[in-house]
Amino acid sequence: MTAIDDLGWMNGGSLAETGGPWRIGFKRKMETSDYHPFIEVGKELGIRFQGLFVLAEMDRLNILKNYPTATQAGRNWDNSENISPEQIKIMNFVRDSSAYLEFGLHGIGHEHWENGKRTRAEWYDMENDKPWDESDLHKHVEGYKEILSQYGLDKTNGHSFPESFVPCGWALYWNPEGEYSTTSVLQQYGIKFANTWFEKVEELNPPIKFGGGIDHGVLVLNRYNYGNDWYMVGKLPERPLKEFKTNVIETHWSNWLATDDFLQESLNRKWIDFFKNIQASPTHYYAKNTEQFYSQWLYKKYTKVTRKKSGEIIIDNRKMPDEIYENSLLGLLTLKTKLEKDEHISYAEIDGKQIPSYYEDSGFGFLFIPKLEKKKYSVKIKIGKQIPENIVINNGTSNIYSIEKVNNNLIFELRTYGTQEIEIKTKNFKKISSLNKNIRVVKKRFDTESRSLFVTLTANDFQGETGKIKIYR
Ligand SMILES: [Zn+2]
Repeated sequence: MTAIDDLGWMNGGSLAETGGPWRIGFKRKMETSDYHPFIEVGKELGIRFQGLFVLAEMDRLNILKNYPTATQAGRNWDNSENISPEQIKIMNFVRDSSAYLEFGLHGIGHEHWENGKRTRAEWYDMENDKPWDESDLHKHVEGYKEILSQYGLDKTNGHSFPESFVPCGWALYWNPEGEYSTTSVLQQYGIKFANTWFEKVEELNPPIKFGGGIDHGVLVLNRYNYGNDWYMVGKLPERPLKEFKTNVIETHWSNWLATDDFLQESLNRKWIDFFKNIQASPTHYYAKNTEQFYSQWLYKKYTKVTRKKSGEIIIDNRKMPDEIYENSLLGLLTLKTKLEKDEHISYAEIDGKQIPSYYEDSGFGFLFIPKLEKKKYSVKIKIGKQIPENIVINNGTSNIYSIEKVNNNLIFELRTYGTQEIEIKTKNFKKISSLNKNIRVVKKRFDTESRSLFVTLTANDFQGETGKIKIYR
């Protein structure tokens, strides 16, 4: 999974020399087109990148005056120079692109200020190795929510608070045994998934060796930087994949931007090749979205998968900790199988039940197995010339949770993001309806020859919607 930190600034140049934030280390104004690169790459590959936003310069009503520790100006905060129609254009574009870009929480001003004096960083005082007052963290989340509301991204309009979080400057108050930690506050607002560079707060003994852990219901994973520092324009990770010690790939906004428009396309191409290379590796898989990635990390940690010569796959999930279920952190398991030319997975079931979604890429077949209980399972697959009937071909970024067959009709439960198309293999088709009013069917097309139903769905909540769609046949 790839995190993109520091989105949301209206200006790129660093103000660090005069006690302000570093921003993105690229001295120019930021605009809507600066959000195009990862969305174009995500569209091409079927990835929803984890974007992490700082919102200070998006404040259109100067509400941050009331949150003095969030900016260098404190109570004298005045954002007039950034207030423009471009802000609305950016936030609407980000909302409408949520199939390929997740809106995650990073911070307001990135650091912590008291009377204009800056301390690193917003969610934990790493200069003095001590946590900020718990009330200060609540204030920062409230300020963040107020700015989101200025763009209609709130509960009133059916939008949830972000699920994903990356602490600014990697400064996280890791304290799972204590009463208060960074994530004990954030989980109250809906944060479930976080990632950071644990070594930066080594004094707190985060689970570096284990690669991640749960702090107050939030699954926090470790990450490193592989040679693409935050200010490096148009820079991909330098180190080869086999040397990556973590599964989270750290990037920052500048890494995705070329110095001029005519150079952008070739940079996007480099990123596409980078991800294709991951997908072509038999030992790696790039997850389609954050939920899937964290789920796969848990299965890799706790679940034993044994492939037998007969083609049967035994999945032993009895060691999955209860805490994972209690905090609803588990979802799909992805199984990757090598395919030769013209080969497909032609049959796939788990304990006699059909597996609801599948797709093919880079010479592999990927099966998405519904959430496992603490049990031992048997998966049977066959390789043949044809893809099975009644299955979703998941080329987009949704999660397909289950399939049900009722009177020859098909009901799929799924979580979908933004506006995207899904393909369903079905012999015949009469009509389709969504059983959740917040998921709309905006387009459909049935191709009788390939027996494929193509459906475009739009989710209202920019954090995604879960619901069922029914296909009448
Ligand atoms: Zn940052």
